[in-house]
Amino acid sequence: MPRTPIIAGNWKMNTDAAAARELVEGLKAAGVSDIGGVEKVLCPPFVYLQLVAESVKGTSIAVGAQNLHWEEKGAFTGEVSATMLKDFATHVIIGHSERRQYFGETDEDVNQKLRAVLDHGLTPIVCVGETGPERNAGKMQDVLRAQIKGALADVTLPDSAVIAYEPVWAIGTGVAATAEDANAAIAFIRSEVAPLQGDATAQAIRILYGGSVTPANIAELAAQPEIDGGLVGGASLVADSFAQMVKAVASS
Ligand code: PEP
Repeated sequence: MPRTPIIAGNWKMNTDAAAARELVEGLKAAGVSDIGGVEKVLCPPFVYLQLVAESVKGTSIAVGAQNLHWEEKGAFTGEVSATMLKDFATHVIIGHSERRQYFGETDEDVNQKLRAVLDHGLTPIVCVGETGPERNAGKMQDVLRAQIKGALADVTLPDSAVIAYEPVWAIGTGVAATAEDANAAIAFIRSEVAPLQGDATAQAIRILYGGSVTPANIAELAAQPEIDGGLVGGASLVADSFAQMVKAVASS
């Protein structure tokens, strides 16, 4: 079964209400909703989820959150639960390297978040990736294996689940992994998922590449057999760029 590719935009802590609205309107005007054969997901900051969800209503564009807390509700000031997200989003990014790096998120946290997302029927986008020093020390595979094992402990992934391979050294740097290296890392991730989740699931889940993806490199990346699209930061904030990447992936 061929895997349907995905272009997901991680807006991070960018836009304000007017800019969020303008970006979605720009995407609609660029015809993003009419491009078939590829899933489009926008991940705005929490406070604009409702606005974006309302703006994309009736289109084929989906909405994702950038994070969540695993508890259902309670005394967790500043946190947002899966139950709350479900009103506005279908996808949730989990374990982004910025969360791991700046907010101390561990593989155990990622595992708890993944369980909450799956318990609520949301689609996870689980991020893994090695840092530059880890890569240079020849530890890329060890790091990816530990992150995958930690994230997937006692979890049964649905075929709709998504993993994003995001080498930390490539995020926001303008230096993307080569298509061959990204393909090899993603093949490795799939091979690590197989013994944990079964071959069929490992073949069915989408594994994206993220890290300085742009309209200039997405076609080559998406043409690789293991790469099922992109998780895109900076280049997702410009409507025409996002539209170009969606088109490139649809025709890859
Ligand atoms: C990201 O935010 O996940 C990301 C990959 O960022 P960028 O595309 O800007 O490197």
